[in-house]
Amino acid sequence: MLIEVVSGALLLALVYLAVRVAVLSGVAGTGMVKERYLLVVAHPDDECMFFGPFLSKATEHRKSVKIGEVEPVVVVMCTSGGRGGDRCVRKREAKKAVEEIGAAVVFLEEEDGELDAKKSTVEKIKKIHRETGRTRIVTFDAGGVSGHPDHKACFEISRKVCREVGDGYLYALSSISLVEKYWVGPLGAKGEVVLKNSIRQSVACRRQMGQYKSQLLWFRYAYIAFSTYMDVNVFRKVMG
Ligand SMILES: [Zn+2]
Repeated sequence: MLIEVVSGALLLALVYLAVRVAVLSGVAGTGMVKERYLLVVAHPDDECMFFGPFLSKATEHRKSVKIGEVEPVVVVMCTSGGRGGDRCVRKREAKKAVEEIGAAVVFLEEEDGELDAKKSTVEKIKKIHRETGRTRIVTFDAGGVSGHPDHKACFEISRKVCREVGDGYLYALSSISLVEKYWVGPLGAKGEVVLKNSIRQSVACRRQMGQYKSQLLWFRYAYIAFSTYMDVNVFRKVMG
């Protein structure tokens, strides 16, 4: 009986892996334009959990950037994640994680769990957008990717910022189904920008989550192991 259960589990694992590798390897990346990006997220670790391929591609030429030149990506973290742990610890982890990949981070200190597109938040991001000379805004889509209300608010906030800065460009990370998220990746990958990590970059993205020690509960390990957001990001242009 035990042998049957073990061999059944092994067979399922093999089928899971074979289908995952076959489908993901068929996804063709489109590459991305070298621009100065503003990534708007809700919580420390969002950038790593959902936008890994984007960050890999946007910062891969970072080594050739001279001291004093602008960062390719500025990450705006709207909250400091107070509902998921100590804010100071989470900010410290985020700073280390983001700076290690060659980007900069700014914290807005909005209330975790209560993020909305109020005027003061929009104004703060407009100021960062202007002062850091950003040319593209990247964030979650209207569905928030995981459905979190703070993620959905990031989309609304970014849309307002984009509209008000005049010549703004806004790209939204496509929400995908659970099967796509934990198994086969975005099917069809019909977005305007498809960013696909190399194997080395996929491993680096997963290792990057190690900076968020306070968040490494058992289910996070499962997410890190299986989430296809660590391998492929599909973006749609919303404005610009
Ligand atoms: Zn989040």
